[in-house]
Amino acid sequence: MKGILFVMSGPSGTGKGTVCSRLLEREKLNLSVSATTRDMREGEVDGVTYHYVTRDKFESMIARGDMLEYADYNGCYYGTPKKSVTTLLEDGKDVLLEIEPQGALQVKKLFPEAVLIFLVPPSMAELKQRLLLRGRESEEEISRRIDASQWELRQAEKYNKIIVNNDLDACVDETIAYIAGVRKERKLIEQLMNEEI
Ligand code: 5GP
Repeated sequence: MKGILFVMSGPSGTGKGTVCSRLLEREKLNLSVSATTRDMREGEVDGVTYHYVTRDKFESMIARGDMLEYADYNGCYYGTPKKSVTTLLEDGKDVLLEIEPQGALQVKKLFPEAVLIFLVPPSMAELKQRLLLRGRESEEEISRRIDASQWELRQAEKYNKIIVNNDLDACVDETIAYIAGVRKERKLIEQLMNEEI
């Protein structure tokens, strides 16, 4: 059986990164390491948090067809290298992508069988508060991310599942239960298709 491609997406500040790290502690999932042209922040590790590359390098990866999806988000490129993801899926391993919505929708076009999860904040006021509290971005950058969230929220209906990240533990539990349900359904369909009658 081929692996399942899970995509965790949603506006910046909804807690995608935190939810994904919790998922990796509890579930057998392989997180794809993205490439980006943005500057490395304190505490980040090249090859672990992201593969940090120049714009030239990123554009040559696009030209060579090495990207499964990519987006220009707030003036920086972010993208998923294709090879590692397809190899894992072919090996029957489930893969998790943590990406913004432009990229998530590209994945859905390429892999209609991918499972897209859209994480939303309990309110926009809370989203802004979280972005301010984590203190990673300038106020200007935060405004741009909040502006971008309007378009992103309009894409929510294209997703397989919407999950509210109000209480982190509850959100992680709900996501795990959803993933377990998808795995069970996919297994059942596979069994039915292979059943000899
Ligand atoms: P940050 O700069 O906060 O690390 O990431 C900015 C946004 O880019 C986040 O919403 C993050 O999920 C998204 N992102 C990270 N990697 C990728 C990727 O490979 N592709 C796309 N499309 N978005 C990504």
